[in-house]
This record gives sequence, C-alpha cells and structure tokens, in this order.
Amino acid sequence: MSDSDGKKTLGLRGGARPGNVKQSFSHGRTKNVVVETKRKRVVVPKPGASKPGGATPSGDPSRRPAGISDAEMARRMKALQAAKAREVEEAAAREAQEKAREEERARRRAEQEAKEREQREAEEKARAKAEEEDRKRKEAEAAANRAAAAPAAEAPKPARAPVNKPAPAATPRKQDRERDQRGRGKGRDDNRRSGKLTLGQATGGEGNRQRSMAAMKRKQERARQKAMGGAVEREKVIRDVQLPEAILVSELAIRMAERVGDVVKSLMNMGMMVTQNQTIDADTAELIIEEFGHKVTRVSDSDVEDVIKEIEDEEKDLQSRPPVITIMGHVDHGKTSLLDAIRDARVVAGEAGGITQHIGAYQVKTDGGTTLTFLDTPGHAAFTSMRSRGAQVTDIVVLVVAADDAVMPQTIEAINHAKAAEVPMIVAINKIDKPDANPDKVRTDLLQHEVIVEKMSGEVQDVEVSAVTGQGLDELLEAIALQSEILELKANPNRAAQGAVIEAQLDVGRGPVATVLVQNGTLRQGDIFVVGEQYGKVRALINDKGDRVKEAGPSVPVEVLGLNGTPEAGDVLNVTETEAQAREIADYREHAAKDKRAAAGAATTLEQLMQKAKEDESVNELPILMKADVQGSAEAIVQAMEKIGNDEVRVRVLHSGVGAITETDVGLAEASGAPILGFNVRANASARNTANQKGVEIRYYSVIYDLVDDVKAAASGLLSAEIREKFIGYAEMKEIFKVTGVGKVAGCLVTEGVARRSAGVRLLRDNVVIHEGTLKTLKRFKDEVAEVQSGQECGMAFENYDDIRAGDVIEIFEREEVTRTLD
Ligand code: GDP
Repeated sequence: MSDSDGKKTLGLRGGARPGNVKQSFSHGRTKNVVVETKRKRVVVPKPGASKPGGATPSGDPSRRPAGISDAEMARRMKALQAAKAREVEEAAAREAQEKAREEERARRRAEQEAKEREQREAEEKARAKAEEEDRKRKEAEAAANRAAAAPAAEAPKPARAPVNKPAPAATPRKQDRERDQRGRGKGRDDNRRSGKLTLGQATGGEGNRQRSMAAMKRKQERARQKAMGGAVEREKVIRDVQLPEAILVSELAIRMAERVGDVVKSLMNMGMMVTQNQTIDADTAELIIEEFGHKVTRVSDSDVEDVIKEIEDEEKDLQSRPPVITIMGHVDHGKTSLLDAIRDARVVAGEAGGITQHIGAYQVKTDGGTTLTFLDTPGHAAFTSMRSRGAQVTDIVVLVVAADDAVMPQTIEAINHAKAAEVPMIVAINKIDKPDANPDKVRTDLLQHEVIVEKMSGEVQDVEVSAVTGQGLDELLEAIALQSEILELKANPNRAAQGAVIEAQLDVGRGPVATVLVQNGTLRQGDIFVVGEQYGKVRALINDKGDRVKEAGPSVPVEVLGLNGTPEAGDVLNVTETEAQAREIADYREHAAKDKRAAAGAATTLEQLMQKAKEDESVNELPILMKADVQGSAEAIVQAMEKIGNDEVRVRVLHSGVGAITETDVGLAEASGAPILGFNVRANASARNTANQKGVEIRYYSVIYDLVDDVKAAASGLLSAEIREKFIGYAEMKEIFKVTGVGKVAGCLVTEGVARRSAGVRLLRDNVVIHEGTLKTLKRFKDEVAEVQSGQECGMAFENYDDIRAGDVIEIFEREEVTRTLD
C-alpha cells in the first residue's frame, strides 16, 4: 500500500505525500529516488496539539513547520512535553484504547460497506440504551456489570459516537481528535520508537482510510504488542542525552541511538535544512531530543572534564606511598650536587650496572627500606609553575643552604614557596666539608625567616651534609623518611591513574615524551589518557633506570610514550575510559586555552599588536621568540624574561616553545621584529635560510644565565639614556660692566670648582634660578679661556641674557648621558 501512495509524482504542491524524483546525472544516467516532502510530516505539531486539550490553536493542521520562530519553538517544546506526559497517561489506558480502536475501525469499515449495518447498529444502540436505562433502574446486578465495564468504556464511548446519531454536533470533532491521537499521533510515536519510518507509516495519518485490511491488522497487532510491553520497552529506549552547547547532528544521533537520517528529517520538519556534518545549537537539539522521546541533560563545555573528576578514595583502598621530594635553595649552594650524590650513592650501590637516566625524577631506597622519590628538577620556577597549574607534586622540600655561605635571596624565596605550598621542610646544611663551614650561622640566619631548626629547639629537621664527600647523606635520607612517616602519605593504586608532568620534550626518535609522576592509581601500558591539552595511549613506560615497565603506581616517575603532542610541565594526566573522552577533553582545553590567550590580548593579529602597542605607548617592549629543548627550560626562561624590565622597558615573549626553530617561528619573529633565542636547540635549514633572507636574528645558548644576560643587555638598550647633571662649579658676580659689542659682562670670582666655557650655566638670585643657558664668553683678564679654576677671577657673559646684578650666583653644570642597565 505504501507503493500505491509512493507512486505519486513529487511536486511542491504541498500534498502530504511522498513522491518520486527523477535525478539526472552526467553521462545520461538517471535515477528514480523516492522522496518525502516535508508536508507529509506535518504530523509534527499535531501530536502536541492534539494532546493538551485539543482546543489550542496549535491544533491547526494547516500550521507549517518551516521558518518557525523562537516563540513557536518554545510553544512546540511545551507541546512536546505535554505530549510526553500525555503518553504516560495513555500507557495506562492503552489497552482499552486499542480495543476501542479495533471496534472503531471495524465499525468504520462496516459503515463504508453497508449502510444497513450502521442502521442496525443504531437501532441496537438505541435499544441497548433503552435497555441500559431499564436495567439501571431495575437490576442491581446489571448495574454492577456496567460499573465493571465502565473503565474500559471510557475510551470506547467516543468510538460509538459516529453511529450515535442523536449527538452529531459534538462528536465528529471528538472523533477526529481521537483518530488523530491514535492513527497519527501514536502511529508516529511508534515509528519513532522503532527507529524505522517507512513511507506507508509516515503517511499513516492520512492513509488510514485507504489501508488494506492486512496492513491495518498488522498495525493493530504491532500496537497491541507495544501496548503490552510498552512500559518496559520505553524504559529501555529513553536515553539521557548529554547535550553540550553545540553538537554535530551525527553526534546527536549517536547519543540518542537514533538513525542520523531520522534526525536530519526531524530537523527538516522544523525547518532546519542541515546535513549530519553540521553543528546545531543546544536549543534546537533539545527539541529534537524531546521529539524522539529522550531526556535532555544540558552540559556546559567544561562538563566534558567531568569524566575525570576525582572520586574520593575510600580509606580502606588507600595504601602508603613514597614521598616526593623537591630540593630547593640558593644558586650554587649545591642542589644539583646533592641530587646527584643521593642518586649515585643509592643507585650505583643498589642496581646492577647502575646506569641512570635523567628523566626528571628518580627513586632511591633508604637503609631503613623507605622508598623516596626525588624530583630531579631543582629550582623554584619548576616548583611554582607546577603548582600554578594545579599540580602539587611535592610532599617534602629539602632546603639546601651552604654552610660556608648564608641565607641568600633564593633561600628566602624557597622558604616562602614551601610555606605557601604548606609543604614541610628539611634543612640540609651543605658543604660541611669546607674549612670555613659555619653551620650554626646558617641555623641562626634561618631564625630570622621563621625557620626554627631542631638544633635551635624548633621543629624543622636539620642535617649537616656534604654532597662532595657524601657525609650526612644517609642521615638526610632518614630525616626525609621520618618526615614522610609523619605525613602518612597514601594513595589508591587500584584505580585509574592520575599524575603530573614533570618534564616533557619532543624526542626526535620517539616523538613527544613526558615524564609523569603518578600521583594516584596505577598507570599501565595501553591506558588511554588526557594530559593538559594533549591526549594519547600509553605505548611504553620507561622508569628512571631506563627499563621498560608495564605499569607505574603512586609516586613512581615514568617516561610516557604515545602522546599526540608535547604537554607542559605541571600538566595533569588522567586516564580515561575511551579515546573519544580523552580527545574531547583535550580539544576542550585547547579551545579554552586559546580563548584565554586571545582574551589576555596575546599577539595573535597584527592589529591587536598595534592596538596593544598604542595602549602601552610609554613602555618600550623588547619582543623575543624563544625555543628550548625541554619544557622545563622554556618555562624557566619565560619566567626569567618576565622578570626583566621596569616601568619603561619590558621583555615580551611573543612565543615560546619546545623543539627546533622553524620557519613559522621566523615568520612570527619577522612580523614583530623580534630576535629568536634558541636554548639548546637549533634552527632547521629552511628556517635558517628564511632568517638570513629576512634579517631575523637567531642566537643560540646553552646556559640560561647567558641568555638572560643578553636579553637584559638588549632591553637595557631600549632604556632612554638618563641625563645626569653634575655641578662643576659656582661663581659669584662681583661687578657688572658694560662692554660695547658684547653687552653686560660680570666680573666674577669662582668660589667653588671650576667654571667651564662649554658648560651649562644657571643664574641664581637669592637661591632661585632665574635663568638657564650657556656662556657667551669666559675671560681671564683679556683672554678668552676654556676654564677658570676656583679662587680665580674672571669675566663672564650670558648668551642672550642681560639681566644680571652684582651678588648673583652662577651655577656651572655639565650634563652627562648615563647608559642605564636593568638589574
Ligand atoms: P646548585 O646551583 O645549587 O645546583 O649548586 P651545584 O650543585 O651546582 O654546586 C655549586 C658548586 O658547589 C659546585 O662547584 C659544587 O662542586 C660545589 N659543591 C656542592 N656541594 C658541595 C659540598 O658539599 N662541598 C663542597 N666542597 N662543594 C660543594
């Protein structure tokens, strides 16, 4: 029967019919395509309309879905909601309705076939009515029977209406509505539920009358089955659809577990001509989701991160984990030496071969059997930048102070960092082997900074060590072990891993590599993860000894291979269930970061740059581009750069990154007139060529301090030279002469310093400057001289100034340009 309907020609004639379209292709091929016009699906507003008490104007079948307004959409949404509520009601009365429908259909057919039958029925009806009334009055039993039948009769009642001639005015409409509900509304729902929409079904509403008996029976059978198992099935089908602020049509279909085609059709019915690869907004998607009978859960973009939201571990799942230690202190107090000494002493002694690999962190075992994890990235920049990214990895800070030195600025900085992070400290008084070592001075120095060590009756453990001789190292490790015991550090190894990136770099052979310190859970080979704006699947794990391992538990540092990009130090790694989740989170973060950068006014376009320059007119900027070998260095350099400068000059890092200097870098540098600084990286050949052509300066460094010093010097060049005045002498006017051709000349005595012809002069009267200028003449006796010393007399006249009196004082000064430097 759908065939007979389907053969109609397609036109824009607006009939609610499907049709054929003849498509012509090149090479003379043609193809007949069965198409549905959207008219046919005018059913969309109807179910909603037919439900909430059908009297609303939205019941108007002539309403067209195309070009709907917001208000209309809202109304539809409401209607759909009402429809859903109605469906629930219907479910209860469904069986009764089905029966009613059968009756109705049967009767209608009978009506069409034979009028006599209708008449007979009318008679019967009348008779039955009379009988009913009789019975009501007479037989209590019959009344009871009727009462029992009443609930079922509720629905059948209107079904009887068409043949109930006495009330023609009210019934036809009711009948129509009923039919709409059953034939169309429900039929539509059924189609939706089954996920299939045949042409025949789609035209079900209008096609009712023309249906074959068999089709009708099939439909009834289906409906009955649905009604019986309806409740169960609906529960299965209704989905909570997570709806972000914008969604791809295809993704929406997947989330609803509906066919993309159906979703596209639905959208078309709403007047939205979209393909599956287009993105629709949440409001539209919500309408669709509700139309398909699913539940909407609106999620904001950031909710994609919810899948990695930390679940609190239960106490019983927690096991103790090794502490993570960062060594901090003033430069040259021996941080690196100490780290090396600890590693060498422990690893060489303990491991066969003892080949260590610097991966940014390592583990050692104390004599007492405690495992300790040291972060092999001394320095405060790493510590704070990690903390600022939300990765607090350090449990204990070892503050190194050289015994032959004192508490220095960076020592204080370290103390402050540790305090801010609320991380306990252990003081290692280093270089105790030195003859001029004075550990007690260090202890008293520390008092001033509210660090009271045990020897001063405080609570901070202090250990005297020598990184060179190895003295005190074991004590230091035991002190750390003790501190960690007090901290009762715990983690749950039996969960999805979470960790922090300590270092990351782009390895030529291995691709992006990140050293991750697992903080909770266990990271395993094959795990899918998101880390900062990157994601990946663990291809291999390599421990601090250079061995491949299958897994890494809490406080274990490992090199992770299998990233799609290079993350940044301090980025948090989370294992996710699916790659889609990981990618989604990474994408979201990338966009968020981009937005943030754009919002922060990062130089993205030239216009923005110029705008920015205008705003900061008074400030000279030294733009630079910086590439480094590892993220840690890049960050340290950027932080150092940010510190350079003052109110007048500052360094602006246009871009910093990890890896070789590329043509893109050169392009950016050229656009901004910036030099490129490479720290332990080089420019590739094409970048070198372009840089040569475009005159972009590339400098290479392998020591951070050199780089910083250079940049400082360059920035200093931007400082406008300071003009300083130097008073070189004073002279007092004794007498004023008038000399023809010269004007007024003062006979003076140089009272202080020297009077110089070329110098600047000021005329002071009663200590008030009344003129500033230069000298026209400086005479000693008759001769013009270059300078006159203190205690000597001379004649002086001002250039272009005559108002001089005896008793005035001349101040003689020189200006010098002082090149300033940034400190
Ligand atoms: P960092 O800048 O804090 O990492 O300091 P380094 O570890 O680079 O050490 C600075 C200098 O101090 C190096 O020349 C080391 O050899 C020396 N040094 C470090 N520890 C000791 C020590 O315990 N005793 C002696 N005598 N020298 C040390």
